[in-house]
Amino acid sequence: MLSEFELIRKYFERAPREVRPGDRRARRVALGIGDDAALLRPSAGMELAVSTDLLLEGRHFRAGADARKLGHKALAVNLSDMAAMGAAPRWATLALGLPAADEIWLKGFAGGFFALADRFGVELIGGDTTRAAAPGPVPGPIVICITILGEVPSGLALFRAGARPGDDIWVSGALGGAALALEQPGNAANAKRLDEPEPRIELGERLRGLASAAIDVSDGFAQDLGHILERSGVGATVEYALLPRPAEVGKIADADLQARLVLCGGDDYELVFTSPQANRGELAALAAELNLPLSRVGAIQSAQAKLQVLDAQGKALHIGRGFDHFAP
Ligand code: ADP
Ligand code: MG
Repeated sequence: MLSEFELIRKYFERAPREVRPGDRRARRVALGIGDDAALLRPSAGMELAVSTDLLLEGRHFRAGADARKLGHKALAVNLSDMAAMGAAPRWATLALGLPAADEIWLKGFAGGFFALADRFGVELIGGDTTRAAAPGPVPGPIVICITILGEVPSGLALFRAGARPGDDIWVSGALGGAALALEQPGNAANAKRLDEPEPRIELGERLRGLASAAIDVSDGFAQDLGHILERSGVGATVEYALLPRPAEVGKIADADLQARLVLCGGDDYELVFTSPQANRGELAALAAELNLPLSRVGAIQSAQAKLQVLDAQGKALHIGRGFDHFAP
């Protein structure tokens, strides 16, 4: 059985990167894994964006979930928070509570984690590892807690507060696919949206100076847009028919189910953002450049914190609630 320190060294501590000319990453970490703390070298003129997400087996992922996909998703949900702030992700810490040092699981998890980390130049700089079990025979659940740190030029971060009456409301990609995959586990078409979401990092960075407010969709479009409305002290009207959805969601005959997936389905990790009307052309060009659909779905109104979703006849739809861990 691996000791805690062997486990860290074998799966999470990577050889110091060769410093190649032009590789800026290598200079962002003065000291990585192995000491009592890591030492970072933030760039001049940047603010640090910091965010933590905790994933619990049985609550955020099912027992027996594929370890590689889990490594991807655990980091992806954190990267998505950086995207929503307009920050460039740089460093991450990883705290793991594991029922056992299962090497097949560790290899898969580390593989998924580092494949995504390397795509965005994120360096794992530390963490903590513990057995998830009280002394005795009952193993605890897997616990994965990642803290992500990113950089954003001072004054350019995107906030939830910032939406103004008259601004357009935009959504990236499509909504409801992850929730459909959760609802119909046998339906493979949207499994990737649920298991291996793509954090919208490039979009987030490009929205600096363009978006007036932004959030990522983790708990459902209606609920997450609601956070923007509340923080900004505004309301919104959204045209239901304009909300982008994957083909398999759009084909669902049960209208209530389709609406629930699109409006309340969580886990899509798309960005919802607001932007002055004057930016429409620039955003259309950005969508083409990033090869990522950006849909204009509604407008910010002055009525405080009220969200109206209108059907084709202009009638307000009833909106259920998004995911709330403490809902009765
Ligand atoms: P401490 O006793 O100070 O908590 P540890 O012995 O737990 O330190 O950790 C040793 C080193 O390994 C530290 O640099 C820590 O950040 C790093 N580390 C521990 N667990 C992980 C992990 N799961 N992923 C990455 N780094 C880790
Ligand atoms: Mg420790």
